[in-house]
Amino acid sequence: MEIIENASLKSLNTFGVNATAKYLSHIRNLQDIEALFEWKSNNDLPNLILGGGSNLLFKQNYEGLVAKVDLLGKDIANEDEEAVYVSAAGGENWHDFVMWTIQQGFAGLENLSLIPGCVGAAPIQNIGAYGVELSNTFHTLQTVNLENGDVQEFSKEHCQFGYRESFFKSQTLDKLLITSVTFRLPKKPEWHVNYAGLREALAGEILSAEVISKAVISERSSKLPDPTILGNAGSFFKNPVLPVVEWEVLKANHENLPGFPQAHSEEVKTSAGWLIDQAGWKGYRAGDAGVSDKHALVIVNHANATGAELWQIAEEIMKSVEDKFGIRLEPEPRVIS
Ligand SMILES: Cc1cc2nc3c(=O)[nH]c(=O)nc-3n(C[C@H](O)[C@H](O)[C@H](O)COP(=O)(O)OP(=O)(O)OC[C@H]3O[C@@H](n4cnc5c(N)ncnc54)[C@H](O)[C@@H]3O)c2cc1C
Repeated sequence: MEIIENASLKSLNTFGVNATAKYLSHIRNLQDIEALFEWKSNNDLPNLILGGGSNLLFKQNYEGLVAKVDLLGKDIANEDEEAVYVSAAGGENWHDFVMWTIQQGFAGLENLSLIPGCVGAAPIQNIGAYGVELSNTFHTLQTVNLENGDVQEFSKEHCQFGYRESFFKSQTLDKLLITSVTFRLPKKPEWHVNYAGLREALAGEILSAEVISKAVISERSSKLPDPTILGNAGSFFKNPVLPVVEWEVLKANHENLPGFPQAHSEEVKTSAGWLIDQAGWKGYRAGDAGVSDKHALVIVNHANATGAELWQIAEEIMKSVEDKFGIRLEPEPRVIS
């Protein structure tokens, strides 16, 4: 395992923040994982597991070892009467993997097309889009424990998936390295096309995984800034989930407040983007840090904003939304400080 000292992380995070890592290594195979384990036992410094860097904000330089997961490989692991099981290594690009499943004639991941990042990070926040979450088709994942070298397999019931949540996000960050993930893709697909935007785009179409994926890609490209052109980490805040009673009180004062009743609970999800827009932040800019003029939920780096400058805007947004609506927004990306 080669270790690079004082490495720039600019090209390794989609915000394009020019932070550095004291040490950086690329994890390409089992030997590299063993070497990382060894390094950890001999050094009293923290480590950070990095995928595509699309759900992170480096608020400052990282004074430890960043382990960039570059494990590659994907295959059809198994098949039964009802489903095929496909696996991909943690460093595979998520969108390329989705496209590969569609090319094989499999359905189930099409709504999650064009989400940036790697396969190994996808379970961390149970990625979701257009009415579908990773947990819908998740089967198992494999991890290596960087503290004791143990290899473990997790089935769905042990992952504690929730809205942008999992056991790995709440309990084991930087300790369990996800080496591969397996999905169960049903042979009789169930299409999810009732999401606003998608429904209209697909009206009258004969549905297939490919057709839905193309519509998702087109919708996403028209709404979200491309991180290769304008640095961002997608939605910067989670959509707040409120008790029905609280949501109704707010709705009485703000008649256009969006609300999506949550299945099996007395809760309503509202739109963080709507709240931020109403608080006047869309298109805001301070130096190179700002808020997208396309989507109020997306904080952007116009060129050379620092992580601290981007985080300052996030804090100001949280304060102003709380002052106006009494709701404390929760950041979605991991803030590294
Ligand atoms: C333009 C844009 C649009 C987006 N749209 C969506 C969306 O629609 N839905 C959605 O859910 N997200 C979305 N995101 C957020 C992001 O793409 C996802 O969260 C993605 O899964 C992050 O993957 P990554 O490889 O970049 O993870 P990173 O940002 O590198 O890491 C995220 C977290 O996962 C951990 N991690 C990474 N790899 C591993 C591993 N192999 N083992 C253990 N831990 C690991 C890291 O330590 C970190 O805590 C978007 C981001 C952008 C920039």
